[in-house]
This record gives sequence, C-alpha cells and structure tokens, in this order.
Amino acid sequence: MIRGSVVVQRRRCGKASCRCADGEQLHESTVLSYSKAGRNRTVMLASREVASVRAAVARYRSAQAKLEQAGNAGLSALLSAHTSSGRGR
Ligand SMILES: [Zn+2]
Repeated sequence: MIRGSVVVQRRRCGKASCRCADGEQLHESTVLSYSKAGRNRTVMLASREVASVRAAVARYRSAQAKLEQAGNAGLSALLSAHTSSGRGR
C-alpha cells in the first residue's frame, strides 16, 4: 500500500516556443502527492505505474478507515463502560 494521493498536474514548461506557452495546452503529468516530515511533496509517475499506484493508495485508504473504525469502537466501549459504572461526571 502507499500513503498519498494520485493527482494530475497541469503546468507550463516555460519554453516560449512550446505549445503550452499560450496556457491552453498545458502539460499533464500524473504524480503521487504525499507529505513527509511536514512538507508536501510529489513524485512523478510513469504512465505504466499509475494504475498500480492508484490501487495501492486505495488499499491504504481502506486500511486506514478500518483502523480508525476499530479505534473508535474501542474508545466507545471504554467510554460506555465508564458511564455505566456510575463514576461518570
Ligand atoms: Zn511546454
């Protein structure tokens, strides 16, 4: 699995003679956007990588959602045990 998100960036390359110079036909590149040590970073993906990286990102998201759910269930169980013991507030 991979932490991050797959995004398509559209940008100019800066060459005055390029098709992108008029701002209408920008270059598209698919990147993985992720954060590391508090900074947002991107890494360019080769077109053959895109599908598998998207799938790996989806696996991470779903594992993360399950982890969150399990953590919340444990928290709720603890809180309700405390409430029903009459020692709340
Ligand atoms: Zn260009």
